[in-house]
Amino acid sequence: MGQGRFHRNTQNSEVVEDPGEFNQVNEWAIGCKICKGLGFVHPVFPSGRINYSKVEPCVCWDKYRFQPAVIRHRGLNPSQTFDNFQLSKRNQEAYDAARIFAEPDSPYPFVLIYGSTGCGKTHLCQACALTMQANGDAVRLSTLADFFSDCRNHLDSKDIERYLEIVRGWPVLIFDDMKAESLSNWAVTHLEDIIDFRYRESMNGNPLRTFLTTNLDVEPHGNIPPIPPRILSRFSDYKVGKVVLNQDIDHRPGN
Ligand SMILES: [Zn+2]
Repeated sequence: MGQGRFHRNTQNSEVVEDPGEFNQVNEWAIGCKICKGLGFVHPVFPSGRINYSKVEPCVCWDKYRFQPAVIRHRGLNPSQTFDNFQLSKRNQEAYDAARIFAEPDSPYPFVLIYGSTGCGKTHLCQACALTMQANGDAVRLSTLADFFSDCRNHLDSKDIERYLEIVRGWPVLIFDDMKAESLSNWAVTHLEDIIDFRYRESMNGNPLRTFLTTNLDVEPHGNIPPIPPRILSRFSDYKVGKVVLNQDIDHRPGN
């Protein structure tokens, strides 16, 4: 084992000093001093020469993967809490569902909130994430579009299966804003797999809490496409799930 600044001290791997082609920071590696946020390192030949033709995950990957206390969030906004949510008669049910979902002993680990864009669904996602994070839960929050874009990055770096495995089993998963534009067949298939896995685990007494918001409808409605049926059916199972229409009017300026 070398003592160089960029040496890993396990598995004979070394880190490139210049990221070069790996110019993207991987979310699990943020702050890692070994790979400097790349998430990957080059292995080292027995001769000691660095094998630049190969990459393998940095040790931070395993830390991230096996550390249940890690709290993942993206774009968490500390100002969007349950307390300052603008309650109305029309969004009360969605608010209640989110509030109960965020409680440690929530009777339903699956919540799907649907309704028009801008009606406070994102605020509810943020409030759930903040509450659950404060309770010590490991939360991942992202828009679905961001998640799919992460997937594309992991496809490129050939570790998509490992990435999906992590996301599938994450204790609390909050996906905001499922919209028709981001739902290619590929995306639907992967999302279904994730939801399916979490549903089965939840049915087997290992609640993998899952919160999803969308502007799609439960059935085709004018030009609004329906929620993919397999996904809807998981959330609609009263044993674990709850599907709520957030009927608030759009209160963003200009909408
Ligand atoms: Zn690292």
